[in-house]
Amino acid sequence: MCGIFGIFNHSEAANITYLGLHALQHRGQESAGIICSDSSGFYSHKEMGLVSDIFNEEVLKGLKGNRAIGHVRYSTAGASYVQNAQPFAVEYAKGRLAIAHNGNLTNAKVIRDELQNFGSIFQSTMDTEVIVHLIALSHENSTIERVISTLHRVEGSYSLLILTDKEIIAARDPYGFRPLVIGKIGDSFVISSETCAFDLVQAEYIREIAPGEVLHITQDRIKSYMPFKKVKPKHCVFEYIYFARPDSYMFGRTVYTVRKALGRELAKETHVDADIVIPIPDSGAGAAIGYAQETGLPFELGLIRNHYVGRTFIEPRDSIRHFGVKLKLNAVHDTVKDKRIIVVDDSIVRSTTGSKIVKMLQQQGAKEVHFRVSSPPTAFPCFYGIDTPSRSQLIASSHSTDEINTFMGSDTLGYLSIDGIKKAIGDKEDEFDYDFCDACFSGSYPSKFPLGMGLEQMELFQKK
Ligand code: AMP
Repeated sequence: MCGIFGIFNHSEAANITYLGLHALQHRGQESAGIICSDSSGFYSHKEMGLVSDIFNEEVLKGLKGNRAIGHVRYSTAGASYVQNAQPFAVEYAKGRLAIAHNGNLTNAKVIRDELQNFGSIFQSTMDTEVIVHLIALSHENSTIERVISTLHRVEGSYSLLILTDKEIIAARDPYGFRPLVIGKIGDSFVISSETCAFDLVQAEYIREIAPGEVLHITQDRIKSYMPFKKVKPKHCVFEYIYFARPDSYMFGRTVYTVRKALGRELAKETHVDADIVIPIPDSGAGAAIGYAQETGLPFELGLIRNHYVGRTFIEPRDSIRHFGVKLKLNAVHDTVKDKRIIVVDDSIVRSTTGSKIVKMLQQQGAKEVHFRVSSPPTAFPCFYGIDTPSRSQLIASSHSTDEINTFMGSDTLGYLSIDGIKKAIGDKEDEFDYDFCDACFSGSYPSKFPLGMGLEQMELFQKK
């Protein structure tokens, strides 16, 4: 769970990257960083915290050069501290290099162990650093060749940006798990995890970087390589369900349109008689609107979100402790009192949010609470860059829908099926081929894992 942004050949490279990262902030809130380059070197700033807290005019002025890459981070591999903030920069025998990575390498540990056995010293615990070591060790002549030979060795998910003194390289793994798009501002190329960043910096969208594509951008040209064996793409379906911003255009569709379609399918599959439909904001909003449109029920705001909950919030020592979800959400008494409510969220992970919301609505006088989820039960962890807890913490891995309903205290609980997702995504006029990874719901992982990786979870899968 990270966002990346880059720009080549623009006099305001740092400022535009700052804006791009701001638009991608939903993809990671732990740390952020920008590295710029000109002919005399790299200029870098990265810290823990939000983009708007880390960068100011003064800092941005110091980031010189007409090309830059940036990163916002939410750790899925490697701990959360500043050494792990990206972009990650090094100086090696063949020059300077910085890298920003969204994804998870499934064979990072195997390669890291191998390299450490030969004496390599790692500065961080991120799997991204493995890529840097492999590039430095490569005997190929040019950076682009070294990057391509490195990418042949790594497995898993990556959308990558690499910056050197004279070029930017953008790459996407052969399955295309994570998004990556390219656009233009005048003569400058911009690359971003999501198109919502292009809208902010007024870049023109060109296209997705294709799964398995490596793009080489230099002063005089842009060149595309397709160096890997072609496989059927496996875009992450959870980007549509929860992670991406609704206003982004991704994998050939607008995220908001897909979310509404998921809500419509959810209504077709699970509807019960009720008075109103309410979302759990913000993540359930798109699906709740689709649900309301399908059923003709009024869409209401029954829960209001406080957008200013920082991770630094300190609860009082005694008396009213453990605010939990109340810090973030509160019920609107007039909307929910005496109503039979359909409450829609995008997913249930541990089920703590859901059960607290059911209680909150009941305390405000709801007559019935029917919990609806615009995705199937999340029963398997993600190894491709979404932060999911281990399988034992995923309530759906060990409990049936009826048991989860009883635990949450709702009147009924309904999930969307995998078939429902397929119908929602295929809600396009042309013929549609389902190119998505839904391993978090189905347990069907597109790639093999190296021995030892996620062993605990894998054993659990086999026992099932
Ligand atoms: P839980 O209380 O663990 O069931 O959390 C469910 C809520 O977390 C849902 O409202 C989702 O919108 C949200 N959610 C789902 N996946 C993630 C994730 N990987 N990281 C953070 N939040 C998530």
